[in-house]
Amino acid sequence: MITAEALKDIVGSDWVVTDKGQIEPYTIDSTPPAMMPKAAENIIVVKPATAEEISEILKLANRQNTPIYVRGGGTGMAGAAIPTRDGVVLSMERFDKIEEIDTRSLMAVAQAGVTLGDLLEAADAQNMSFPPHPGDEGAQLGGLVVCNAGGARAVKFGVMRNYIKGMEVVLPTGEIVTMGGKLLKCNTGLPLMHLIIDSEGILGVVTKVTLRLYPRFPGTATMVFSYDDRNAAINTVPAILQAGIIPLAIEYMDREIAELTARYLNMTWPAQKGKAYLIVILSGTNEDEVFLQAEQVVEVCQKHGAVDTLMAERREEQADILKIRSEVQSAVTPNADSLDTAVPPGEIGIFMSEVDKIADKYGTKIPVVGHAGDGNLHHILMQEVADKGLLDQIKEEIYDVAIKLGGTVTAEHGIGKKGIKLLDRYTDERQKQLMRDIKRSFDPNNILNPDTGIVS
Ligand SMILES: Cc1cc2nc3c(=O)[nH]c(=O)nc-3n(C[C@H](O)[C@H](O)[C@H](O)COP(=O)(O)OP(=O)(O)OC[C@H]3O[C@@H](n4cnc5c(N)ncnc54)[C@H](O)[C@@H]3O)c2cc1C
Repeated sequence: MITAEALKDIVGSDWVVTDKGQIEPYTIDSTPPAMMPKAAENIIVVKPATAEEISEILKLANRQNTPIYVRGGGTGMAGAAIPTRDGVVLSMERFDKIEEIDTRSLMAVAQAGVTLGDLLEAADAQNMSFPPHPGDEGAQLGGLVVCNAGGARAVKFGVMRNYIKGMEVVLPTGEIVTMGGKLLKCNTGLPLMHLIIDSEGILGVVTKVTLRLYPRFPGTATMVFSYDDRNAAINTVPAILQAGIIPLAIEYMDREIAELTARYLNMTWPAQKGKAYLIVILSGTNEDEVFLQAEQVVEVCQKHGAVDTLMAERREEQADILKIRSEVQSAVTPNADSLDTAVPPGEIGIFMSEVDKIADKYGTKIPVVGHAGDGNLHHILMQEVADKGLLDQIKEEIYDVAIKLGGTVTAEHGIGKKGIKLLDRYTDERQKQLMRDIKRSFDPNNILNPDTGIVS
């Protein structure tokens, strides 16, 4: 095992943490506590500042056979960053510089420890925007890249992968490589960069990223549609898309969840009527275009049973609605688990009603929130479900329905450490072996983030 002294020789004595109390926050993430993997006892935290220092640490880890767990913002929900074996947590917090907001090529170049919040602010200051919005703005760019995060605002332009154009990576064996660049097209050989995206920190340490930006949308509006019937709300989603309007976001929330999250944030949920809500975020080249889209969306929603419409135009009002939606996962406690299934967008209505039948069968309620425009719902299984001994049974039935509808058991939170059994169950042997082979060719000694993302 690597010693603290050896790490101090690489990064300096100020950047190695051995005090148990100070290490503790680095051993948990945002996974629901009941599902959180247990951290190992003997952990050292190291905070390098350059790719060269990371390279030295990884070479040493190979020589001393020591697991290295890369740590971003700790907002992951699948336990991916948790150090489950004695080893070293490599925190990216000092990689916090935005190097460039390039308004000519519409790209940002930033170190991997920059937070989403800081990137959004820097882009905004240059009249640019970065549409993806996975809920917690404390997530770091490196974490967002290797988790291929989604979140709200993915309907029109897609998830993180669509924005990642280049990166600098330190491979587990210590070589520093650059992939892609400020390029919209780059077909040079096998797409290794796309393997790093969604690799959950097992194929390399991302140190710098190049991300696509968009000019700030001159017109935006956030609308909240209230429904008395949650199935009517969800059934509106394919109809909005079929009408030819592609919003930035179409989000779904149960009323209880919306109000509870608003209270948690000391805010007020603006809609008064209904039991279920669709939040639709529109963008356009000017306000007239957005207004025209808004009229069309209102027509579709009313036709599908919306009982009230609220339109937020001021930036602050729009930001408040997005904030309430984004913080749901932190507000709804105690929850035994928060699922992350997705089905083809056209099947989302059937999916919702099948899960309602499961809830009825077990005499429980399953609150729902989700990125409805992406077919991605988060069913929240409250602690009382686990207390009644129903957790595994209900989860299994929900997963089975999703798979039958052509869906997936995790759309954006990933496998991490929490989902290994799911990967094992829902992936065929050949693909599991290919994943192991890829891991071995990047990381022959399995030092980077063991126990994560693949079935061993
Ligand atoms: C309230 C809340 C709402 C959320 N909403 C969404 C949502 O809507 N959509 C969504 O997709 N996710 C969502 N998430 C999950 C989370 O924000 C994302 O998974 C995010 O990508 C994690 O980034 P992080 O920096 O916090 O990574 P961490 O949690 O620190 O780490 C996650 C994984 O990335 C690896 N990693 C981190 N940095 C690097 C790096 N530089 N190089 C290599 N590996 C690295 C770690 O080793 C680990 O395996 C939400 C989380 C919370 C708490």
